[in-house]
Amino acid sequence: MNIVFLGPPGAGKGTQAKRLETKHNMVQFSTGEMLRRVAATGSELGQEAKRVMDAGQLMPDALMIRLISERIDRDCGDGFILDGFPRTVRQAECLDQMLAEKGLKLDVVIEMKVDEEALIARITGRFSCSGCGAGYHDEFQRPKVADVCDACGGSEFVRRADDKEETVRARMEAYKRQTMPILPYYGDKGVLRTIDGMASIEEIAGQIEATLGVA
Ligand code: AMP
Repeated sequence: MNIVFLGPPGAGKGTQAKRLETKHNMVQFSTGEMLRRVAATGSELGQEAKRVMDAGQLMPDALMIRLISERIDRDCGDGFILDGFPRTVRQAECLDQMLAEKGLKLDVVIEMKVDEEALIARITGRFSCSGCGAGYHDEFQRPKVADVCDACGGSEFVRRADDKEETVRARMEAYKRQTMPILPYYGDKGVLRTIDGMASIEEIAGQIEATLGVA
């Protein structure tokens, strides 16, 4: 099954995608994570990616399509979950075309609906394990043992540079202006499902599994 997660930054796309990955042998393609890895190399492209991300802007469509296409060719398990892509109607159209060329299609697009101000609190408190990428939150999801990753036992954690309130607000605006117009695009195709992204992590996971019929 091939899925897209749509929702503003902090809606829980990454958290829920990682759960589906572990439980249902699907592969998460997070364009944000891909770009953060490129940025960490310090290459010319990496420096450009860092500048664009820190400003809450978007990287060029052609680059994003190429990154996703290469990842799908390499490995897509029993299906993939796109998290952070597509972000514009243009990217959604390019994605449909690219998948059709590979003989693939999207089965479901899940929109996580959220309250904007609550999201700011969610995002500014989040951090992740630098070893395995497991996600945590100062308030909602602390490691079981302080400063030790539940998943891999690592003790190094990182916070995203673009999780600062000012950047988060710019990313929210970009979501409203550029990404929300995708909703009617997928609505017209009959693949859009909307769930309540303000529920607990467990409840949201249940809603997603019920929507996908994979409980
Ligand atoms: P995310 O982790 O999905 O919030 O993405 C972090 C940043 O990476 C975004 O604010 C953009 O600058 C960039 N980015 C991620 N996905 C895309 C995309 N599909 N198109 C363009 N830029 C992207």
